[in-house]
Amino acid sequence: MEIKFLGGALEVGRSAIQVTYKDTKILLDYGVMLNDHPEFPLPVETKNLNAVVLSHSHLDHSGGIPLLYINRTPKLYMTSMTRDTAELLVHDFIKLSANYLLFDKTEVEKMIRNTKTVYYREPFTVGDLEVELMDAGHIPGSAQIIVNGDKTLVYTGDFTTVKTRMLDGADTTIGDVDAVIIESTYAHEDHRPRIDLEKEFVKACREVVENGGRVLVPAFSVGRAQEIISILAAHNFKHPVWLDGMAKKTLEYYLSDKRFIDGAEILEKASRRTRFVKGKKGRIDALSEPGVIVTPAGMLKGGPALYYAPEIVEDEKSAVFLASFQIPGTPGEILLNQGRLVTDAINKPANCIVKQFRFSGHAGRAQLHDYLRKIETHAHVFTMHGEPEMCKMLSDWARNELGLSGTAPSNGQTFTI
Ligand SMILES: [Zn+2]
Ligand SMILES: [Zn+2]
Repeated sequence: MEIKFLGGALEVGRSAIQVTYKDTKILLDYGVMLNDHPEFPLPVETKNLNAVVLSHSHLDHSGGIPLLYINRTPKLYMTSMTRDTAELLVHDFIKLSANYLLFDKTEVEKMIRNTKTVYYREPFTVGDLEVELMDAGHIPGSAQIIVNGDKTLVYTGDFTTVKTRMLDGADTTIGDVDAVIIESTYAHEDHRPRIDLEKEFVKACREVVENGGRVLVPAFSVGRAQEIISILAAHNFKHPVWLDGMAKKTLEYYLSDKRFIDGAEILEKASRRTRFVKGKKGRIDALSEPGVIVTPAGMLKGGPALYYAPEIVEDEKSAVFLASFQIPGTPGEILLNQGRLVTDAINKPANCIVKQFRFSGHAGRAQLHDYLRKIETHAHVFTMHGEPEMCKMLSDWARNELGLSGTAPSNGQTFTI
């Protein structure tokens, strides 16, 4: 079995892996790196591509897939939840980046038409390979991918074994495998206990609102925004909570198929308590009283968050609580570290409270190590989806601590297992 890394090696973004066995060629993810202009993985010959298997809907895993449908129509496998949310995200990506792209809605339609939805632990055959999805615990519908030929490969995609409000964490019963491709985002640090972070977040929201302020929580539309409203509901947050942007449609999808939501009861409670922002009038209403506004984009790079932010940052009673890691250079990171709101149209100081609460859907150091401890000693570990130091740190650890063969490959490298 041959494994070629096409993107996402020694970097976060544009994840793509090509697996070839006998006459069968498949891709695991085909994402995009969202810098000033989109960057895609290395090109693939689509003529003899049998299928694409998508781990989850986030654009760093899905954003390049329409490229594969310009001239061909390979089969695409994923969970139904990933299909619905990926369609939302890819359409939004086209809207924002149309000038840079070689594809448009036509290719997305072709992509959806060629999708076969599969559920966890239901193996399916692609040519000479047998493929199976396993819960990844990252966002609803997310999967790890097991590929069986003469050897067995597991690709974790983005995963976490930490229980969150919506998900119980990744399935780690992987058995005897010959190779693991594992994400390395947080290879360098442990996450704080989730419950401490939740309590601190809810307390901070209460303080701002009870002091007459408004809290803007910029959050990714798929996964994080719904987790945030679930956290507030789980801690009986009594004040108004508003939800805006694509996060609303995603919540609808989540509530319509609870096979993908372990904490469905809390999510339903959260949904009942949430006020859904409708149109301009809704936004004015949301800003008119103390409360929490949860909305994309997660790093203030666009979305309705940019409607609220200019007013919120001027008010010293109000707050912006960033709910995730902020990539350097994004408006969210600049606000956090320089205390200014800087976008294409605005550049002004922030008088409001600015804080970061790093809720994560990725395994931290301890979870990555525990995952690898379960692997048989003959297995090869490939690390990816992390800054170069993180990928190297995790593969070194697998070698030195566990005696596994560990590699942090570069894009373009090919391995045979
Ligand atoms: Zn992800
Ligand atoms: Zn990712």
